[in-house]
Amino acid sequence: MLPSCLRRQFLIYKRGVAVSEEKAGLFEIGRLFHEFLGRTFRDGGLTVKAVEAPFFIVSLCGDELIKISGRAGLIISLNGEDYIIETKSIRNLPREPLRHHVEQLQFYLAGYGLTHGFLIYLEKSFLKSSIFPVSFSLEDFRRLLNRAALLHKHLTGDLMPEPDAEKWECWFCEFKEECGKNLKGGGGRRF
Ligand code: SF4
Repeated sequence: MLPSCLRRQFLIYKRGVAVSEEKAGLFEIGRLFHEFLGRTFRDGGLTVKAVEAPFFIVSLCGDELIKISGRAGLIISLNGEDYIIETKSIRNLPREPLRHHVEQLQFYLAGYGLTHGFLIYLEKSFLKSSIFPVSFSLEDFRRLLNRAALLHKHLTGDLMPEPDAEKWECWFCEFKEECGKNLKGGGGRRF
């Protein structure tokens, strides 16, 4: 979630927003798909080390520790090397991996100390798929850790961050009324 709008994340923590049934359904579909993929890979002779694999990253923010946690889709082993695989269902297959998905994978790779992974997009209506390799980038990971530290400072200081969403994020945001961002204005982006 850290790659998404900082203001939205702040409001989720502060308001304790319940996940909508629709979004909870999407999470469940993702989990089921990871399990299905795990079985398919195993049947195909691949070594699947973990499905829905939890990770924790602890980082220093000034004199405080911040903890980032999540679940990586799958960890597979191929020719002696481990890879993270993350799947996303999507309306239309992208020509290249979406930035926030690549950033999400950076945390998974860091959490398991791995250098390579794959993003698999599955088109919802036509059951087509695309696969993109993703490599760990220390520079991107450092940037994301700084972002985590920034969110931590806003939360502990009870100070609302500036909106930094991409336009599409606002369309689906639970806080668009409260936020007051001009949704017609497009998204700025950050770092
Ligand atoms: S409406 Fe957009 S800018 Fe405002 S909190 Fe939501 S995602 Fe962020």
